[in-house]
This record gives sequence, structure tokens and C-alpha cells, in this order.
Amino acid sequence: MFSERERERYKRQMMLFGEEGQERLKKAQIFIAGAGGLGSPVSLYLAVAGVGTITIVDRDVVDQTNLNRQILHFDRDIGRKKTSSAKEKLQEINPDITIHAIDVKIDETNASKLIGNANGIVDALDNYPTRYLLNEVAIAKEIPLVHGGIRGFYGQATTIVPGTTPCLKCIFPKPPPQEVLPVVGATAGLIGTVQANEVLKYLLGIGELLKGRLFIWDGIQAHADEICVERNPACEACGSKAKKTPAREKK
Ligand SMILES: [Zn+2]
Repeated sequence: MFSERERERYKRQMMLFGEEGQERLKKAQIFIAGAGGLGSPVSLYLAVAGVGTITIVDRDVVDQTNLNRQILHFDRDIGRKKTSSAKEKLQEINPDITIHAIDVKIDETNASKLIGNANGIVDALDNYPTRYLLNEVAIAKEIPLVHGGIRGFYGQATTIVPGTTPCLKCIFPKPPPQEVLPVVGATAGLIGTVQANEVLKYLLGIGELLKGRLFIWDGIQAHADEICVERNPACEACGSKAKKTPAREKK
């Protein structure tokens, strides 16, 4: 059931998917890995849409160099934990939802537990080793993983549905070298918004997801494209062999 305030708040989107759709969003739990450039727009748009429980995980502290793109964090937040800054803003923008902000580094010992019973995972990270870990947990729990990545004016996004689509390892078998990436805030905003939109469609069960499709954005040319991606039967994460290993059994 919704309060009068919630009905007013969500009025313009309930015109699209009704009370039932809004109820789905309210009951949903979404896990966002990263409260940075992508995590900011993803979490803001999921919060304003009324996704009932948002868990956001980040271990960093807000730095001056973050502020050109990480719009959850303000100048006054420099030196604060990103999680406390994120929780404050998200709770302020929508007091009717629950925000869990966890200040921890995601690793193989805690990833599955942190993700818990989430309905979906958002990859708002900037490194591939942790992305691969999210990919493994998504496969084990059979929940979608919405990937996003950015560099400069370029961005990419895709939605991984275990058992249906290629996984992150099928698409990117090897991590690119770690580097300090140049990034324009607007690119993070665009890709993060695509990711939030994917999560909403998935939760509502409407539209076409970016399944088996890698969305590519070239901000310099103002050109969007997509690449069809396929499962690798020999994939070490989702291939037929991998599925039988006990570590990937459904918990
Ligand atoms: Zn795979």
C-alpha cells in the first residue's frame, strides 16, 4: 500500500505502469557496487523511482578529483566516506525508501553475503577483477547484472541475465590494463542512466533489455551503436563445466 505522499510522488510514472508496477519497485532490492561516477546517477534514478531497498557499497573517501562526475558528492563532502555522503543524499531525495550504504571493499570473502537476496546487481565499478566477482555471484544466484563502463567521452552498457545471455567473462575474457581513466561527467550520467533504466524495466517486466547486446556510446560523435555479443560455451565463469563446480551452486 502507498501513502498519499507516495501516490503523489510517483503519479507521473504510475501513469505508465500502474500501482502494480510501483508495488514491484517498492518490494525490490537492488545492489549497486560503487558510489562513484556511475553509482551516482544509477542510485539517484533508482531512488527517485521508488526502488524500495538500495544497497550501495564503496570503500573510498570523497576526493576533489571525483567532483567532475560523481554527482552524489558535493564540495562540502571532501574527506567524507562516499557511503555516508551517498546515504545522506539518497535519503534526502526520497525519504520513503531504505538505503543501506556499506563502507567495505568487495572481495571473494564477502561478495555473496553483501549481495544477499538482491533482485539485481549494478556494476558501477572501475575495475575488472571486482566486476568478475559480481559476475560470478550473479551467475550463482541467477540474478541479472547490469554492466556499465566509461572512458572519456565513450561508454558501454549491457544486461547480463545468467543462463540466457553471455556473461561478463564471455564478453570481456581478459581485463584491460588498470589505469587512471579520463572521464567526462556527462558520459557517466548517460551510461548510469541507461543502467538505471535497465534495472527499472527488469523489475517491471517491460520492454527490451540489453540482452546479448553491448550498447556503445560515442559522445564525441554523438553516436550510439550496439554490438551483438554471444555466449562462449567454454567460458570459465558460465560455460557448461563451470556450472558444475560447487562454488557456483545456487545458494
Ligand atoms: Zn560466460
